[in-house]
Amino acid sequence: MKTLPARSVALVLGTRPELVKLAELIRVLGPAARVVHTGQHYDEELSGSFLAELGLPEPEYLTGVGGQPRAVQIAAALHGLDGLFEAEPPLAVVVQGDTNAALAGALAANARDLPLVHVEAGLRSHDRAMPEEHNRVLIDRLADVLCAATPDNRALLLAEGVPDERIAVTGNPVVEAVQDHLPAAPERTLLLSSLGLRPDGYVLATVHRPENTDDEPALAAVLHELAQLARELPVVLPLHPRTRARVEAAGLLPLLDGVTVLPPAGYGTFLALARHAALIVSDSGGVQEETTVLGRPLVVVRNSTERPESLADFAELVDPGPGIGAAARRRLAEGPQGLRRLAALPSPYGDGTASRRIAALIAELAAARTIRQDHAMAA
Ligand code: UDP
Repeated sequence: MKTLPARSVALVLGTRPELVKLAELIRVLGPAARVVHTGQHYDEELSGSFLAELGLPEPEYLTGVGGQPRAVQIAAALHGLDGLFEAEPPLAVVVQGDTNAALAGALAANARDLPLVHVEAGLRSHDRAMPEEHNRVLIDRLADVLCAATPDNRALLLAEGVPDERIAVTGNPVVEAVQDHLPAAPERTLLLSSLGLRPDGYVLATVHRPENTDDEPALAAVLHELAQLARELPVVLPLHPRTRARVEAAGLLPLLDGVTVLPPAGYGTFLALARHAALIVSDSGGVQEETTVLGRPLVVVRNSTERPESLADFAELVDPGPGIGAAARRRLAEGPQGLRRLAALPSPYGDGTASRRIAALIAELAAARTIRQDHAMAA
């Protein structure tokens, strides 16, 4: 790969999953990477400790974005990014996924005529109630290089009329994130025994999406199902700050009496817990991918998913309610044989080379941009 000038590739991010999925690309880019954190989720548990754990350089931070309504977040981040890009224009801008931070990064690149790379392009839930669906459709419209994780993501983009030459199937960088950050076996054993857990003998759960946390009956139904499961085997729940606030406000804390509640886990800790869980119950996007690398069954508690690849073997999609317990018991009943079957399957999200492929695409894009700028100056 041709060496890129220092700070010539701006990576705009703002939430935990973006840190996870861009970490290896930032490492591969080295001094060429210029990381801008919009502050969408600035919180020590969700971002601060993650930066250090993932070995990321200290980002430039925007202010006035976190905790604001969606339109204000996007507008404030766009304004801040425009100032940064005017002062020091990058050769390319990279965004990942479907957050407000990613949409702001895409709009800022577009406004300054900077080439835009979209990591995790072509995901569609077809659920117009999700702000993320609108974000990802808009980013794909604006992007110059669309890094599709799977051939199905590419097919979706082609069906929407995106020209083939803009799309590359790269795999999803979450695969290398899991490979790089899963702690070694002795460390995992220590972690499990410190929590009194047996390998393959517990359920790991996460809940943070607004459709589950902001709708009180849905939140009560999810917690009720976890409480019922906890009567049969330990249930471990690293609790997202948003969910904790909602549980407390709704007076639902007693439902968590039998559940092992933890603070949000560091990435390595979370992967270690996921690696040995008999079952995972989650509404997270990233967890739907990670479970395919770790070979563990998953019950996805959501109205829709943009990751149908996970549903083929690894995951089942259920609404918040009794379907959770029914699906969980079905998967748990498959026992060690079920776990062996999943462990033998490849992840549909690639082989752990996505970040390197994406870095090579960025280098090509930046080289073309430099040649164009040189010609313009010579003319
Ligand atoms: N995660 C973590 N600690 C936790 C829960 C999740 O490190 O306690 C990781 C998880 O492995 C995944 C990412 O956070 O990589 C997912 O973030 P989140 O669920 O917030 O966002 P989503 O993927 O739904 O956009």
